[in-house]
Amino acid sequence: MYDQVFSFEGTLAKHASLADTAPETASIHELLATPYAIFNPLSDHQLEALAQKSATITRQRFGHVMRFFVPLYLSNECYNNCTYCGFSYGRDIQRYTLTDQDIVDNIDILTKKGFQHVLLLTGEAAKTVEMPYFKRVLPLIRPRVAQLGMEVQPLDESDYRDLVALGLDSVTVYQETYHKDNYLIHHLSGKKRRFDYRLTTADRAANAGIFRINIGALLGLSDWRFEAIALVDHLRYLTQRYWKTQFSVSFPRITSIFDSTQRLFPVSDQQLVHLVCAFRCLFPDLGITLSTRESAKLRNGLMRLGITDMSAESLTSPGGYSGVEADAQFDTADHRSLVAIQAEVANQGLDAVVKDWDAHFSTPVMHSHSSS
Ligand code: SF4
Repeated sequence: MYDQVFSFEGTLAKHASLADTAPETASIHELLATPYAIFNPLSDHQLEALAQKSATITRQRFGHVMRFFVPLYLSNECYNNCTYCGFSYGRDIQRYTLTDQDIVDNIDILTKKGFQHVLLLTGEAAKTVEMPYFKRVLPLIRPRVAQLGMEVQPLDESDYRDLVALGLDSVTVYQETYHKDNYLIHHLSGKKRRFDYRLTTADRAANAGIFRINIGALLGLSDWRFEAIALVDHLRYLTQRYWKTQFSVSFPRITSIFDSTQRLFPVSDQQLVHLVCAFRCLFPDLGITLSTRESAKLRNGLMRLGITDMSAESLTSPGGYSGVEADAQFDTADHRSLVAIQAEVANQGLDAVVKDWDAHFSTPVMHSHSSS
């Protein structure tokens, strides 16, 4: 399990050893060959070379495909207090958990718009959105979509096995921050304070036979270079250990927290581009997801550089697509329709894909793995 490999102190030391700036004469090849050196501040010339290399690798490995998915929030009930989240327990908001009929209504609306990949999200509320709820609603949703993912609280391995048996394809779980001290500062109460249990979620999901696992850090809780180093180490560990599983990353940025006594570590657009391109070059086959947290302009710019998966038309309140009234988790920035984004994708010479058969070719392999 990764908690036996991860070293907070070791990551701090690697982060401290980064230079203030990369040597002006260093090539991208040299920087990529030296551990973590690609995360040193780069000159404009070096960043441009990195972006070009990233774009080339992406087209070589993924062709012209851009995959699309849509999030569906099932609930905004949550017993955790996280400084950055609109669903935090201490916040006085309108709470709601979707009924079976709400779920069917929302899925019908989304599939009519053309979405085939759906990511289900919830807060973490014992008795309301736990395994019995998941086991009840997955059979409702699974036959209606081509691919199904979940971004919910970390679960036990046996729970993931049960969800795989119900047709779950992917799990998204962000560590939020790999910086243990900052993690405790931003996760004030609730089960989410268990840093190590969260850190080993990908192990449990992979052991259970989940086909695709998306990890990442919520950029802004610690220095982005610290998160990048930790994420590189985590991905190296996971890809070597669980070679049957597909891994992907996201780099969600937060822009505000509710606890104004805590400082954020802002990440600029340029630094986000740097991160995406560096990960593409370090992990050529890695899926990289970009959400509607980012603006249309930035998403358009990143499409060709390294991104493989995008969300569209996202609403972050439970059942928002069918008009259920409940509060949202955060504001999105790209409000374009799926059709409009697909037009931009085509404009850039890419093919928009709403249904990816890859998982289905691989599913039997993973099922036999999970039941052994
Ligand atoms: S980030 Fe997740 S766990 Fe934390 S308050 Fe929000 S929904 Fe709950």
